[in-house]
Amino acid sequence: MSLAVIHSRALSGMDAPEVVVEVHLANGLPSFTIVGLPEAEVKESKDRVRAAIQTAQFEFPARRITVNLAPADLPKESGRYDLPIALGILAASGQIPAKTLEHYEIAGELALTGELRPVRGALAMTVNMMQRKAEGQARRAFILPQSSASEAGLVQDAVIYPASSLLEVCAHLSGHTELVRYQARQQAAAVSYPDFSEVKGQSMPKRALEIAAAGGHSVLMSGPPGTGKSMLASRFPGILPAMTEQEALESAAIQSLNNSFRAESWARRTFRSPHHTASGVALVGGGGIPRPGEISLAHHGVLFLDELPEFDRKVLEVLREPLESGHITISRAARQADFPASFQLIAAMNPCPCGYLGHHNNKCRCTPDQVARYRAKISGPLLDRIDLHIEVPALKEDELMANGSGEASESVRMRVERARRLQIERQGKANYLLGSREVEQYCATDDAGMALLKQAISRLNLSARAYHRILKVARSIADIAGEAAIKPAHIAEAVQYRRFDA
Ligand SMILES: [Zn+2]
Repeated sequence: MSLAVIHSRALSGMDAPEVVVEVHLANGLPSFTIVGLPEAEVKESKDRVRAAIQTAQFEFPARRITVNLAPADLPKESGRYDLPIALGILAASGQIPAKTLEHYEIAGELALTGELRPVRGALAMTVNMMQRKAEGQARRAFILPQSSASEAGLVQDAVIYPASSLLEVCAHLSGHTELVRYQARQQAAAVSYPDFSEVKGQSMPKRALEIAAAGGHSVLMSGPPGTGKSMLASRFPGILPAMTEQEALESAAIQSLNNSFRAESWARRTFRSPHHTASGVALVGGGGIPRPGEISLAHHGVLFLDELPEFDRKVLEVLREPLESGHITISRAARQADFPASFQLIAAMNPCPCGYLGHHNNKCRCTPDQVARYRAKISGPLLDRIDLHIEVPALKEDELMANGSGEASESVRMRVERARRLQIERQGKANYLLGSREVEQYCATDDAGMALLKQAISRLNLSARAYHRILKVARSIADIAGEAAIKPAHIAEAVQYRRFDA
């Protein structure tokens, strides 16, 4: 047999399309050609494969070797194909059996010693491999590097064989020493987050964050430095509803694309807080081979943007699309990649450039013009898409000195879970996802509530979008209270959270 075929996968956004690695040996002058890979990566892969085969005490065939990675138009990073290429050469030259290879999908980067290095996106590859079953194709097992196994093993029923070296894989395929099948994840330990009770005072902002958690609403906090905005934000994931299995899997798959998945963070909502100097690509994703950005790494978790006005305005504008649609499409030359980006936005800002406007010590020296210019850095359309605007005031001394801690995250989370369950039962989704027609249907209020709302709209000069947002937030407030109908008091509270519109 001088032809061997091995199955592997490429990565394209969250997708992992199949790649067939064909290795052909022919007589003639010894050579080693790889087609279907970018030029620069071919050489590195050839060197690693040759060294690994020789270190493992196999013979590197002195023949004309042609490796074809098909289809040719898929984006390919070389590393993951090292192991399939090496096995293909060994099978085509009769040093390992070629027949069993069809039952496997294989990926792994080789070190010169023949050890296996982890691959990016093992989870996405496994998810795609398991879709074969749904399409009625024969099942395959996945051979991959040891350190990539724990994420691949998150996919239920997947057969995973972790290996630490080329030699181990060869022993397995030859039937000498079988690899040990990866044992699926045990029941995960309870997920823990920093606790809300550690934040002193600030009962108003805490209340607003509870509403945000209940309905999935985005939040903008304004307040002087050192009032606990970051502390509140970092504790926010702990009051969100527990992740569903599907959410946990999607979140893990994205971390896996970024090489940042850890088994112990399974079902833990991510908290991403990029610095305001972060580039557009870092924030929304991109690159030659498109990678997820912060907004996708925050999928089903929290994206915290501290000092919001300091972010590049162009970068902020890009957030508008994912805030509405829950995903982002990155176009690069001829290539497109789609990443999920259903994150909950928590933003924070100072009230003025110096930060002390409205502080009880009143140290602010900013001119009204400076304050206006500072706030105008956040565009109206973006502000419009943030459901809750709240103030986080500086604490007075007696509040700082007060003993006793606040309510623990766990008991807040119980109320949030209950409110969220009402939403799912009523409308099949969280309140923030309601479209305008659904708002009319599910967020009805009585005449008194309507009158109050109309008054607020004209007094604060609110947009149609803000009108819908107030109703959605009022719906979440009513859900926390366990009320079927939205009452005037719920509207009144929701209107308070639109104060920056004025
Ligand atoms: Zn100031």
